[in-house]
Amino acid sequence: MNNKRNKKVIVIGAGLAGLSVGSYLQMNGFETEIFESYNKPGGLCTSWKRKNFNIDGCIHFMGGLSPDEVYYPFWDKLIDMKSIDFVFFDSHSVVDDKDGKRIIFYSDINKLEQEFLSKAPEDTKQIKILISLIRKFNKARFPIEKPYELMSVTDKLKVAYTMFPYLRSMRKYLRITSHEFASRLKNPTLRYAIETAFVGHLPLFYAIMPLIWRNKKDTGYPQGGAGLISSMMEQSYYELGGRIHYKSKVKKIITENDAAKGVELESGDIHSCDIVINAADGRAGIYDLLAGKYKDKNIIERYESDTFETINKTLYVAIGLNRDFSNEPRKIYFHINKPIYIDKMTTMDHLELTHYCADPSSAPKGKSLIVLMPEAKDWEYWVDLRKNDRPKYREEKQRIADAIIATLDEKFGNIKANVEMTDVATPATYIRFTNNWTGGQISWKATKKTFGKPTTWNIKGLNNFYMTGQWAGTSGGLNNVVMMGNHLAQIICKDEGIEFTDQSLKKTKKE
Ligand SMILES: Cc1cc2nc3c(=O)[nH]c(=O)nc-3n(C[C@H](O)[C@H](O)[C@H](O)COP(=O)(O)OP(=O)(O)OC[C@H]3O[C@@H](n4cnc5c(N)ncnc54)[C@H](O)[C@@H]3O)c2cc1C
Repeated sequence: MNNKRNKKVIVIGAGLAGLSVGSYLQMNGFETEIFESYNKPGGLCTSWKRKNFNIDGCIHFMGGLSPDEVYYPFWDKLIDMKSIDFVFFDSHSVVDDKDGKRIIFYSDINKLEQEFLSKAPEDTKQIKILISLIRKFNKARFPIEKPYELMSVTDKLKVAYTMFPYLRSMRKYLRITSHEFASRLKNPTLRYAIETAFVGHLPLFYAIMPLIWRNKKDTGYPQGGAGLISSMMEQSYYELGGRIHYKSKVKKIITENDAAKGVELESGDIHSCDIVINAADGRAGIYDLLAGKYKDKNIIERYESDTFETINKTLYVAIGLNRDFSNEPRKIYFHINKPIYIDKMTTMDHLELTHYCADPSSAPKGKSLIVLMPEAKDWEYWVDLRKNDRPKYREEKQRIADAIIATLDEKFGNIKANVEMTDVATPATYIRFTNNWTGGQISWKATKKTFGKPTTWNIKGLNNFYMTGQWAGTSGGLNNVVMMGNHLAQIICKDEGIEFTDQSLKKTKKE
């Protein structure tokens, strides 16, 4: 149809994955258009206003912030990283046990070691193991400039060489879950802290990653939050000549002779193109938009076997307070005396609280935005309730918000009288606004079984069709899906016989 460089590409979804691949393809001369069902960019990376509070519905920590580390270039080629005020916290989190004893997960590895050793000297041996593991991986810089699929033998050898010193530890700590590690600890406070702050059933190897990133200042919080990051990504895409059609839900991917040819929108409009990329929900892409007609072994493994499990679902309870919370640690996990019933699969005996006082745009001066994310494992219940009994759905959200506020009152004092705003999102909310299957925060659980599984960039048997974003990879996260956008653009360039470029935008520097 067109010459190679002018090929027309339709991207489904203006989340960070879609904006990233669209931008990188624009840099390479493709003519891209994004169709997005909602009315703004960002997908899950979003913020919304309630009363005078700006709720960051996504970012607790953004990764890829250190110019010395491997993810940074993927962001930097798209947005002006230097113009953003990032906040780096002294600690990842603190955990308070049932007796009110506290463990601080310091960002600085030396302080973290001191904290553990001083609070749990009887566990010196296990603490040394954990800390030396963190120190060891702190030095690791695995090359990720290219997708695995495009690596030459030399590239692969380089990866193997870089990974070699870490392989034994990796294998070992992929086999041990955080719970298993915690069970070796004698000190009950440290044990509780590890069990609570690390996702228990996941490999210890994954659990320590946030501590490593924190120590390297590779992760922090962007003032302005998710809304700012998404609008910067949208701006970058526009500056590169991309076009976004909002309120344009794709209902069908049109195929002809086993090749994608375009999309049909819910409105009935048809748009043709040379290449279609699904950067939206992966399952819907395969089973709805393509009607389950194209599957290969990787797709079947992902969606029809028990190898991949979706992440645990949560509620997102935002509370606007007429009081300053900035003296509290940024993230606090704490035991609660009166467990809170969430749904028939979930009762919470602890809560995780994050406040946004480090971001002046989150709340008016002297006030605070706090967010809690209790699990809500029975996601289908929340979807059904919203669909079939809206008053009860609202009542249930209010019941949980009230129970949380009462709990916070007991722990911190002076909360209830200062609540100015509550907002509860459920898995049904995430599904409604982003169409993400099961309404979880990200896609898949990072487990031992999924480690090293290939990214499903395409489906064998269907030409001119690609996939990216959190469902195509083995997990989600903002820096990860932005990197995937770059990787997929490299793959498409290779398939089209074009030399890939990631030439930066002319950036508007901060005054
Ligand atoms: C509560 C919460 C907290 C999180 N915290 C963090 C964090 O602290 N740090 C971090 O790195 N990550 C975090 N994440 C994860 C991160 O937000 C996601 O992994 C990432 O944003 C996924 O991006 P994506 O582009 O792959 O998908 P999405 O953001 O889901 O984008 C897909 C887009 O496709 C659109 N779409 C869907 N179907 C269609 C259709 N048929 N037609 C047209 N458009 C369609 C959707 O509306 C959406 O805009 C969090 C997520 C949540 C929800």
